[in-house]
Amino acid sequence: MSHITKITVCGGGNGAQALVAVAACNLGCALDVYVPLGDEADRLRAGIAAHGGLEAAGAVQAKARPRRISADPAEVIPGSGVVVLVLPAFAHEATLRQIAPFLDRAAWVGAIPARGGFDYSAAMILEAQGRGDVGLFGLQTLPWACRIQEYGQQVHILGVKRAVDVASRPAGRINQLAPLLARTLGLAVDPAAGFLALTLANTGQIIHPGIMYGLFARWEGASLSSAPLFYQGLDEEGARVLASLSDEVQAIRARLERVLDLSAVRPLKDWLMHAYGDAIADPRSLRSAFATNRAYAGLKAPVREVAPGQFVPDFGARYLTEDVPFGLAVSQAIAALSGVETPVMDRVIAWTGERLGKDYLGRDAGQTRIPQNYGLDSLERLIAFANEGLEIRD
Ligand code: NAD
Repeated sequence: MSHITKITVCGGGNGAQALVAVAACNLGCALDVYVPLGDEADRLRAGIAAHGGLEAAGAVQAKARPRRISADPAEVIPGSGVVVLVLPAFAHEATLRQIAPFLDRAAWVGAIPARGGFDYSAAMILEAQGRGDVGLFGLQTLPWACRIQEYGQQVHILGVKRAVDVASRPAGRINQLAPLLARTLGLAVDPAAGFLALTLANTGQIIHPGIMYGLFARWEGASLSSAPLFYQGLDEEGARVLASLSDEVQAIRARLERVLDLSAVRPLKDWLMHAYGDAIADPRSLRSAFATNRAYAGLKAPVREVAPGQFVPDFGARYLTEDVPFGLAVSQAIAALSGVETPVMDRVIAWTGERLGKDYLGRDAGQTRIPQNYGLDSLERLIAFANEGLEIRD
């Protein structure tokens, strides 16, 4: 991919700022930033000017200045060989619609992380704009756990994965893209066979709603004196919920693997070891692997302070509002098309819905990224769409 002379990052949050700092250091080409939300473009520019660059600190260290930062897609999208969305999944569609008219011919557009069903919505949006030439890619997860310390100045990288999976559409071009992404991110990027594998391999859909359910399914409203540790606090019962969700994903994999390569869809414990390896001190059980993962140390459950020193669970956090409609619900819908039963997914999704006032399995299914919302309403259509992604040529 020697012809790429510019990459553009879309987003101004934790992950986007980490990517800008790391990629601008690692890449030998220009890097621009598209930040349309509110006054983020101004704040990003001001922070970088005050600090002499945007800095990643902690588990990864880098400091760099992007070339241009803009809230106007016409200023930064043209000329980009690769455009990367580092956004909560609910912002993908709006951002894709904004940038689509300005994409170069045969540019790549991807999401880090992709979450579930990114390809369904992105392909529909691009096709509607006559942009079938644009390639899609997605990463299975964000490579870093990261939090902004000072906006536009410093982002703290708490933990880094050692390997991340990537998928593309057309799938045949993945070997052009993966080395560039590996260089950009500074870690191993392993090609998955296609986007359906990536959707099912999205471990955030298991870990985040599963642990929230384990921690708070029996919560009855009493305030907490502190936020529980999210990963280190995982108990045996919570670990059983995670194992059951992982087993259900594996059942979908087994059903669809007769016709598609889904080898990237690892059981949860295998994925943990693959992604974190030596950072895990005690890999003997799923619970101990979570509780002793250095990259997860100290991370707390999302809570809201309702009075000084009194907290309640924050059910509006991304762990439910993103990872269910753009994650677990997508896999559950794929299971339904495949004739696979998913009682634990159903229970966790229904519980999330009760907490959020949503019926993701019924009335509010239109607010999710399930394949049925994009015309993929039978197993034959789902598989045909996946196979088309394997076959289409430049
Ligand atoms: P974030 O909350 O920091 O991102 C918020 C940013 O997204 C905003 O600042 C804005 O720039 C952009 N945004 C939000 N809504 C928008 C809209 N409607 N239009 C345009 N832009 C909008 O999120 P993050 O922590 O950077 O996470 C990004 C993704 O990575 C999410 O999918 C998240 O689940 C995932 N992730 C994050 C972490 C982490 O440690 N931060 C770890 C694993 C996965």
